[in-house]
Amino acid sequence: MAKYLIDHKHKRIHRSAFVGDKCDLPQIPLNKRTGEDFEEKINILMVKGYEYCQFCYDGPPLLVNEVHE
Ligand SMILES: [Zn+2]
Repeated sequence: MAKYLIDHKHKRIHRSAFVGDKCDLPQIPLNKRTGEDFEEKINILMVKGYEYCQFCYDGPPLLVNEVHE
Protein backbone atom coordinates (compact mmCIF):
# COMPACT_ATOMS: atom_id res chain seq x y z
CA MET A 1 0.00 0.00 0.00
CA ALA A 2 1.17 3.49 -0.76
CA LYS A 3 2.27 5.74 2.04
CA TYR A 4 -0.21 8.45 1.17
CA LEU A 5 -3.73 8.32 -0.21
CA ILE A 6 -4.85 11.25 -2.30
CA ASP A 7 -8.53 12.18 -2.41
CA HIS A 8 -8.84 14.14 -5.63
CA LYS A 9 -12.48 14.90 -5.06
CA HIS A 10 -11.88 16.91 -1.89
CA LYS A 11 -8.21 17.61 -2.62
CA ARG A 12 -7.13 15.98 0.60
CA ILE A 13 -3.99 14.03 1.44
CA HIS A 14 -4.35 11.10 3.81
CA ARG A 15 -1.73 9.05 5.61
CA SER A 16 -2.54 5.46 4.60
CA ALA A 17 -1.53 3.93 7.91
CA PHE A 18 -3.90 6.15 9.92
CA VAL A 19 -6.91 6.50 7.66
CA GLY A 20 -10.10 6.15 9.68
CA ASP A 21 -13.87 6.45 9.49
CA LYS A 22 -13.81 10.24 9.57
CA CYS A 23 -11.77 10.37 6.40
CA ASP A 24 -14.75 9.21 4.33
CA LEU A 25 -12.45 7.57 1.82
CA PRO A 26 -14.85 4.71 0.95
CA GLN A 27 -17.21 7.37 -0.40
CA ILE A 28 -14.66 8.50 -2.94
CA PRO A 29 -14.83 6.73 -6.31
CA LEU A 30 -11.75 4.66 -7.07
CA ASN A 31 -10.91 6.83 -10.04
CA LYS A 32 -10.85 9.87 -7.75
CA ARG A 33 -8.23 8.54 -5.35
CA THR A 34 -4.66 7.53 -5.92
CA GLY A 35 -1.80 6.24 -3.86
CA GLU A 36 1.44 8.11 -3.53
CA ASP A 37 4.76 7.23 -1.96
CA PHE A 38 6.94 10.23 -2.57
CA GLU A 39 6.92 13.44 -0.57
CA GLU A 40 7.99 15.36 -3.66
CA LYS A 41 4.66 14.50 -5.27
CA ILE A 42 2.85 15.53 -2.09
CA ASN A 43 4.59 18.88 -2.14
CA ILE A 44 3.51 19.42 -5.73
CA LEU A 45 -0.08 18.66 -4.74
CA MET A 46 0.15 21.12 -1.86
CA VAL A 47 1.16 23.81 -4.30
CA LYS A 48 -1.92 22.93 -6.32
CA GLY A 49 -4.14 23.58 -3.32
CA TYR A 50 -4.42 20.15 -1.73
CA GLU A 51 -4.55 19.95 2.05
CA TYR A 52 -3.50 17.44 4.67
CA CYS A 53 -6.36 15.49 6.20
CA GLN A 54 -6.95 16.75 9.72
CA PHE A 55 -8.07 13.32 10.92
CA CYS A 56 -5.23 11.08 9.90
CA TYR A 57 -2.23 12.99 8.65
CA ASP A 58 -0.71 13.52 12.09
CA GLY A 59 -1.45 9.97 13.21
CA PRO A 60 -3.99 8.55 15.67
CA PRO A 61 -5.36 11.25 18.01
CA LEU A 62 -4.90 9.09 21.09
CA LEU A 63 -1.17 8.86 20.52
CA VAL A 64 -0.64 12.54 19.93
CA ASN A 65 0.71 14.45 22.87
CA GLU A 66 -0.80 17.87 22.91
CA VAL A 67 1.78 20.41 23.86
CA HIS A 68 0.60 23.86 24.78
CA GLU A 69 3.15 26.58 25.00
ZN1 LIG B 1 -7.65 11.17 6.49
